[in-house]
Amino acid sequence: MPKPKVAFYWCASCGGCEEAVVDLAEDILGVVEAVDIVFWPCAMDFKKADVEAMPDQSITATLLNGAIRTTEQEEMARLLRRKSQFLIAYGACAHLGGIPGLANQFSREQVLRYVYEESPSTVNETRQRPQVKFAEHGREVSLPQLHHVVRALDQVVDVDYYVPGCPPTPALTKAAVSALLENRLPPKGSVIAPDTALCEECPRKATKPTNLAFTEFKRPHQVLMDPDTCFLAQGVVCMGPGTRSGCAAACTVGGMPCTGCFGPTSRVRDQGLKMLSSLCANVAPKEEGDINKVLAGIPDPVGTFYRYGLAKSLLRRKVNLPVN
Ligand code: SF4
Ligand code: SF4
Repeated sequence: MPKPKVAFYWCASCGGCEEAVVDLAEDILGVVEAVDIVFWPCAMDFKKADVEAMPDQSITATLLNGAIRTTEQEEMARLLRRKSQFLIAYGACAHLGGIPGLANQFSREQVLRYVYEESPSTVNETRQRPQVKFAEHGREVSLPQLHHVVRALDQVVDVDYYVPGCPPTPALTKAAVSALLENRLPPKGSVIAPDTALCEECPRKATKPTNLAFTEFKRPHQVLMDPDTCFLAQGVVCMGPGTRSGCAAACTVGGMPCTGCFGPTSRVRDQGLKMLSSLCANVAPKEEGDINKVLAGIPDPVGTFYRYGLAKSLLRRKVNLPVN
């Protein structure tokens, strides 16, 4: 019997999701044994033309990580969608837009100007920018164009499943691959992780206060934190109540609050809003000036509450920004 054909592809992301696949350690040998990897540019020398030559739907599953920021990424997402029976958004950037989605607070022009002209580490006296097309000696080369905004994978093409996390854990990756190989797939559109809040699997859960009254917020480096007590009880923002479980509470076990990389459960439409509204409702002072003093302890609200999910939030991007 022919082995299932699997592809991996990398769009706007940091490379950590590719590392997560390698993190399967000896289990990767079982995966390699069980499937035929037909496209994985990060690890093997396949070309786009190889994929174009494949019949439509001939790839059993593509695990695509990264958000969609450029014309090339959109083209590859559409090509792999057409060639694959299952398209899996692998990792927080494909699932929710991820950290690259934070760029949706700025226009493309602002991003390019800062990176190529204004950042403290830039030396670019002639203010050169990358050119989308360049011709010399009768030959033309081109670069992908940046879209105006960053999009999650399902804002561009139809997605069958989501494996959450920044990056997904080896256990979840193994569960997703096993479900595929053993034909035990959940309903289309499922996020392959438990549908409960992270607090449920956090060892600090017993100390999570039921009545919160924040008088100040502190950032992790500003306080010597108790290793066993809920972060919220210590005045440190933890996204656990608004975040899906499945990572074995990797960050809170390791001494840092959850920043929300697994995204929301199915019952939460907007992860950032859920956390923002629940924390703000529990600020102790009632006068505006005093409330503002407490909230000043969260100096980057978008980066705190929408670190991974801005592109999929209700706001999505700076108002009036075009998409392409
Ligand atoms: S808020 Fe954070 S630290 Fe507290 S129980 Fe939930 S996940 Fe754990
Ligand atoms: S604790 Fe939160 S930020 Fe850390 S891996 Fe789990 S979901 Fe992601």
